[in-house]
Amino acid sequence: MSEGGVSGVGQLGTAERFGEAELVGGAQPIIRVRGLTKVYHVGDVEVRALRGVDLDIARGEFVAIVGASGSGKSTLFHILGGLTPPTSGTVTIDGKDLGGMSNQQRTDLRKTTVGFVFQKYNLLPTLSAEDNIKIVEYIGGRSTTFTPEFEEVLRLLGIQDRMKHKPRALSGGQQQRVAIARGIVNKPAILLADEPTGNLDSQNSAAVLGLIKDLNERTGQTISHDPEAASYASRTVHIRDGRIV
Ligand code: ADP
Ligand code: MG
Repeated sequence: MSEGGVSGVGQLGTAERFGEAELVGGAQPIIRVRGLTKVYHVGDVEVRALRGVDLDIARGEFVAIVGASGSGKSTLFHILGGLTPPTSGTVTIDGKDLGGMSNQQRTDLRKTTVGFVFQKYNLLPTLSAEDNIKIVEYIGGRSTTFTPEFEEVLRLLGIQDRMKHKPRALSGGQQQRVAIARGIVNKPAILLADEPTGNLDSQNSAAVLGLIKDLNERTGQTISHDPEAASYASRTVHIRDGRIV
């Protein structure tokens, strides 16, 4: 296949079209998306949120997914995480077809392979920072004592002395860092961060993105991620009107 050969791509089979990515390091991509569509029905109106997305993400990549509001980013993230079913197309995570999984298997995948960080943190207000993080550990069936390694991550995130605080006693930046800790406590191979800096000022944004990048480098986690992140990412994928452009 010619380098960067885009012309005629439509005529090739998917294996040929995406063969190059598979050859790098000889490993299959940890995320493989083919022909993904999502149609929402709102009353009589059809909203075509995704219109045929093909995407490969290699293990350890830090990918920024960038697009205007309404372009389909959150829909893509929710499908990748098994939270929302696609209308058509396939998603393969770590070699396993999401569509072929039972609810239980998808739940297990979320416990073990995929972590989420949401724009609005989604911390439970009545729980301390520590319990907000441990709720995921607990669901994942792990020990509820943080490992020394994870204590180091908390130090890196600068929240190790904030663990007994409820979310309302934390700044926005601290809440987002707690949400990041929660997203990675089960050591997922994939961290899906959907506009994780959307509610932060530019200084906190830069700090959070720097930390995510550092975590990516230390842990080799695959991180799919969002705006502003382009300068931190190893690759930027643009999405417009439900298509990768
Ligand atoms: P982004 O995250 O890039 O802003 P979204 O994936 O949230 O984009 O939305 C893509 C399109 O799908 C938008 O037109 C949005 O209004 C629509 N949409 C998203 N979620 C729903 C939903 N649950 N029901 C109906 N339409 C939705
Ligand atoms: Mg969104």
